[in-house]
Amino acid sequence: MHSGRIHRDKYITYTEDEDVYDFSPKKLIEIGAVPNLNLIEDWIPKVKAIMPTHAHLDHIGAIPFISNRFHAPIVCTPFSKAVIEAILNDEKIELRNDIISVNPNSVYKVSNNITAEFINMTHSTPQTAMIALHTKYGTLIYGNDFKFDSQPTIGKKPNFKRLKEIGKKGVACLILDSIYAASAKKTPSEAVAKEMLKEVMLGTNSRGKAVIVTTFSSHLARLNSIIEFGKKMNRKIVFLGRSLRKYVTAGEKVRIINFSKNAEIIGFRDKIGKKLNQMANNKDRYLVVVTGHQGEPKSVLSRIINDEFKFRLEAGDHVIYSCTIIPNETNQLNREIMENKLRDRGVRIFKDIHVSGHCAREDQRDLIELLKPKNIIPAHGDINMATAMAELAKELGYKLGKNVFIMGDGKRLKI
Ligand SMILES: [Zn+2]
Repeated sequence: MHSGRIHRDKYITYTEDEDVYDFSPKKLIEIGAVPNLNLIEDWIPKVKAIMPTHAHLDHIGAIPFISNRFHAPIVCTPFSKAVIEAILNDEKIELRNDIISVNPNSVYKVSNNITAEFINMTHSTPQTAMIALHTKYGTLIYGNDFKFDSQPTIGKKPNFKRLKEIGKKGVACLILDSIYAASAKKTPSEAVAKEMLKEVMLGTNSRGKAVIVTTFSSHLARLNSIIEFGKKMNRKIVFLGRSLRKYVTAGEKVRIINFSKNAEIIGFRDKIGKKLNQMANNKDRYLVVVTGHQGEPKSVLSRIINDEFKFRLEAGDHVIYSCTIIPNETNQLNREIMENKLRDRGVRIFKDIHVSGHCAREDQRDLIELLKPKNIIPAHGDINMATAMAELAKELGYKLGKNVFIMGDGKRLKI
């Protein structure tokens, strides 16, 4: 098993900014930011397709740097394709492999005896899929990064009907997102996050004050809600940041959003500075959406707080974090520094206006019961999370070591 994901923490520690991308593949491998392919050297010639399930950086971010080592197309949903192309374009990297787009709820024939089915899922970025790999040995399901959201604010609901059908036919193995396996709940809908945002954006008094919101650039559903409430606040909406522009442009290209109609979207550094200087005297007329939710030192929010522009934050201004802190030392420290600076000036901070995009224990139970897989591999989490999933599986009649397998980088399993 090899996850193929970019190590966001190491990457940001090195680059100090999720927006900065110009480092050599060799350097990124050296610092452990992209996967070390040496572990699967013997498999490289056998790889038939590279299939990221969605457009998050920890799933597609390594593609520009290591996919040229394979002779295999990259197969993903249209939004993911548009994001990958935007990164390649920005970084002037050329891939020798094709990028093939497959709509959610449709099928791609990988080879004579392998078919990949992209089952529509909900997560925290659009067009996320769960992949069912149908082979002559049985069906393997890759179920990382999803939640069961029956009230998504953009896109369709998860395809429960198809999951049920596949479950009836039989699933050989389920690779399952375990990060919240210890959390006894069902992850709330994005509709809940929208209500939380509404409370903060429309239910607090921000008259005469600056209002800044920051969230994940890839979270187009969240950004869509921010625009909706920004309009109700009668403010001009301005998006500032390279990664914001990248994801919004990709979403508009595949026609799942049209933010440009209601917001000005600026990605280039010089233009961002100009715009902030221009807004400085009428801060209360704008809703400013920026990068920097994890406290990244080179993000637009950090630079505003460090007084790099005429647009300065003062007592009573609002900063809304529509996110949680991704729990690692770098982010926790960066955010603490950032929040301390805001507090020193008397800025009002609204934290954790967010719900997760990842399934919790009761969603995981529902999926296991729908699919009834013969084997389960807990994924995406550390050993504690994988163990919590093994315990959940035990409640459902599985047994660790017999049909639940806790894996690690470089470990292999034969089913
Ligand atoms: Zn994700």
